[in-house]
Amino acid sequence: MQMNVKPIPTLDPRINEIRTLTAQIVNREILPNERKLWAGWRDGATSEDRRAARELREGIKQKVKQAGLWAPHLPPDYGGSGLNFLEHAYMNEVLAYSVGAASLFGVVAPNSGNQQILLKYGTEEQKKKWLVPLTEGKMESGFSMTEPDSAGSDPRSIKTTARREGDQWVINGHKWFTSNGFRADFLIVMCRTEGVGADNGRMTQIIVPKDTPGLKIVRGVEVWGRPSDHCEIVYDDVRVPLTNALGRAGSGHQAAQDRLGAGRIYHCMNSIGQMWRAFDLMVERAMMREVHGGKLESKQFIQGFIADSYIDIQSARLMTIHCAEKMEGGGDPRTDISAIKIFVPAAYERVVDRAIQVWGAAGVSGDLPLAGMFTGARTLRIADGPDEVHKILIAKNILARYHNGESWDFGN
Ligand SMILES: Cc1cc2nc3c(=O)[nH]c(=O)nc-3n(C[C@H](O)[C@H](O)[C@H](O)COP(=O)(O)OP(=O)(O)OC[C@H]3O[C@@H](n4cnc5c(N)ncnc54)[C@H](O)[C@@H]3O)c2cc1C
Repeated sequence: MQMNVKPIPTLDPRINEIRTLTAQIVNREILPNERKLWAGWRDGATSEDRRAARELREGIKQKVKQAGLWAPHLPPDYGGSGLNFLEHAYMNEVLAYSVGAASLFGVVAPNSGNQQILLKYGTEEQKKKWLVPLTEGKMESGFSMTEPDSAGSDPRSIKTTARREGDQWVINGHKWFTSNGFRADFLIVMCRTEGVGADNGRMTQIIVPKDTPGLKIVRGVEVWGRPSDHCEIVYDDVRVPLTNALGRAGSGHQAAQDRLGAGRIYHCMNSIGQMWRAFDLMVERAMMREVHGGKLESKQFIQGFIADSYIDIQSARLMTIHCAEKMEGGGDPRTDISAIKIFVPAAYERVVDRAIQVWGAAGVSGDLPLAGMFTGARTLRIADGPDEVHKILIAKNILARYHNGESWDFGN
């Protein structure tokens, strides 16, 4: 089934154009080739499968570039299409319909987040050395913040230190879940540096080339029972020049917040695209499958699944768009970002769960994208700040407003 994307009458014409162009590539180039595109990753893949898949991917990337949609998060000076925030957000719900399609549009985590941080905080020298090769695909990168021995949901607890010695930083610490760790040529490492004031003001992000002596990759941590490139890394007296700090010393926490803020809206729009796909698959199956003397679609349990999923998708989508519009309009979107960070992955999980149920055994098989979506949705409830932390933030912001003598204005 193709994704049904028509212009939205209330939207800016340029956003409609981007959604339409993206849908054309997803429908014509990606969906018909979905199994072949990622065949190289499957157990038992041959070198011929990998070669054919690579060739297919390169062909699609060329079409994405011709359509002016390549690397939406980067300005044209760095080879991107320079989409603005809302254009990029609306594009995501379309391209995410096919899991993995983002990489064919030049958006690959964690490189894309690192590119944005380098763009905002990097010196000209750092941009030349790290950002340009990253955007040209000549380098890979990772973001190394979470630690096994401290709570990732409380960044103030980070134990990894960087101390100044002459013209160098000396880094000591233990990280894990550094995604893309095996392939990365450099890592952006969140460190505690000396300084005054609150803990948040003592964090500094430092660029560490992976071949620096003292940096040891311990292992790729298995995730959902499969090997992964989310790496455990020890930094043992790792020395890099002082000029490898990103931004001024002490700006690391703010840089991490910048990375996550807009990123969470983009992730939610991705989740919505994937829910949309799961929904289409569920309805398609309900119309096809004959059980106990009738099509699944005629059973009220299944009609309930369809209605509940429609409600989940619409509410997740409208909440996310409201949040994106608030951000674009210069309002304070923090409460809404936390709200969508909780609601959307949970709605995504529910929608995929129902689609899996309707497909029966096929739902958990490798023949459909649903199993991968399900583990992805569950993981999202932990990564980028777990639900509980965001609930605390929502309550804090709301209570502060009421203590200030105001109440909440749900219209704004
Ligand atoms: C697939 C994957 C990829 C990742 N990639 C990266 C990466 O590239 N780089 C990186 O640095 N990190 C990465 N992470 C790590 C991720 O950001 C952290 O897992 C996340 O921030 C949570 O930290 P934690 O695992 O240490 O959990 P903890 O902070 O130990 O929290 C555990 C649980 O405690 C509860 N909790 C926490 N605080 C409170 C509270 N105040 N009140 C009540 N309950 C609370 C929550 O239920 C939470 O889930 C990745 C994680 C996954 C799963």
